[in-house]
Amino acid sequence: MRRPEPRKNVLLINPWIYDFTAYDFWLKPLGLLYVASILREQAEVNLHFINCLDRFHPMLEIGPKSKADGRGHFLKEEVTKPEILKAVPRKYSRYGIPVSVFKKELERIPVPDLVLMTCTMTYWYPGVQLAVELVREIFGAAPIVLGGIYATLAEDHARQFSGADKIITGPAENKIIPLLREIWGDGSVREAEFPSFNDMPCPAFDLLNNKDSLPLLTSRGCPFTCAFCAGPLLYDRFEQRNPEDVVAEIADHAERFGTRHFAFYDDALLLKPESHIIPILEEVVRRKWPVSFHTPNGLHIREIDQDMAHLFRKADVRSLYLSQESTDRNVIREACPKVAQGDLGRAIGYLEKAGYRREDISVYLMAGLPNQDAASIRESVGDIRRLGAKPRMAYFSPIPGTRIWRELVDRGRLKKDADPLIQNKMAFPYIWADFSPEDFRDLQDLLNEQ
Ligand code: SF4
Repeated sequence: MRRPEPRKNVLLINPWIYDFTAYDFWLKPLGLLYVASILREQAEVNLHFINCLDRFHPMLEIGPKSKADGRGHFLKEEVTKPEILKAVPRKYSRYGIPVSVFKKELERIPVPDLVLMTCTMTYWYPGVQLAVELVREIFGAAPIVLGGIYATLAEDHARQFSGADKIITGPAENKIIPLLREIWGDGSVREAEFPSFNDMPCPAFDLLNNKDSLPLLTSRGCPFTCAFCAGPLLYDRFEQRNPEDVVAEIADHAERFGTRHFAFYDDALLLKPESHIIPILEEVVRRKWPVSFHTPNGLHIREIDQDMAHLFRKADVRSLYLSQESTDRNVIREACPKVAQGDLGRAIGYLEKAGYRREDISVYLMAGLPNQDAASIRESVGDIRRLGAKPRMAYFSPIPGTRIWRELVDRGRLKKDADPLIQNKMAFPYIWADFSPEDFRDLQDLLNEQ
């Protein structure tokens, strides 16, 4: 008789952030937790999870400073600034749990049959390198697989420098099982395919220590192609989940985990509203759940009409972030096809009528795009303030593969194989010429003005 395979031990790691600044803006390793869920369904595994960005880790001596809605500051430790970023006059830190806590975590885990890691921003890869080094110290040759945005957008760099054995690019759901069958070679993973986003299981949020606030992804991809954005590079099609499944997920998490805050991670949450966000929010309102929603990724302003604004209010869509990027016609024409003149004023008017205060509405603006001068940015800030809303800067990062990145490479402003550290959003005023450090300081002063 065939004896059952012993359960495999899989270690999931969400590494540290290395940056000049970082804040927990409902940041969770959603892709990794989706993969965890698939593994749990398709194989006999014990999952172990080390979340270096866990502000609620039980071994932390200092409790987290958190807002009631789930946002908060990470612990941080200043580290040596890499040579390539020396021109940036800011402190450079490792954000997340202390290394000593990470080591203690490793010591209490059985030798893993697989280590799965993710990494979000391309320029956070030193966090992966450190995690790989420490895993190797304790577990030797355990196979390490790296996926996520860094691996997808900077594949060659990740293959050469991350230290991982295998790299997964793009959505992992249909790649992880064949890869594991290859690595383990023992048929212990059942075959499965996920033809659409609708077919995916819910992320394994039970692995998180704190579930008061959770991310919610109701769609993947974006049909627009803004010149600076990586969205279309990460998902090659725009897919929306069934509204009933999204509602069921909210219900499950609210009941099972007591989750009260949900942060939409969608890039294009409001598109095709009649068949998507409207039925989702209407059902939330109908069931009178005591939950709130947040929109950290920014909303497409064009879709906000009076009915949508009222529905937001009734469903307690609490923190509103609108994606305007710029009020400069030239910048909009060149970089952001989703934005049209006049949409913002109209949307803010509808939201105010629905009961939102203008000063509580945040509007994202890009700063530092090539060919975008400081006067244009200041003008955009002034326009948002004249509408009574709050400008929020999104600093330009030359993300590999985007149209702007390709233009910078073609013009010789950026090397194709440049170290991803140079893509840090705080590096631009000190390394890219069009927006000077003085412009950057002036902009900071302007934003600090009441
Ligand atoms: S910036 Fe927004 S609208 Fe434009 S491509 Fe990215 S996700 Fe889509």
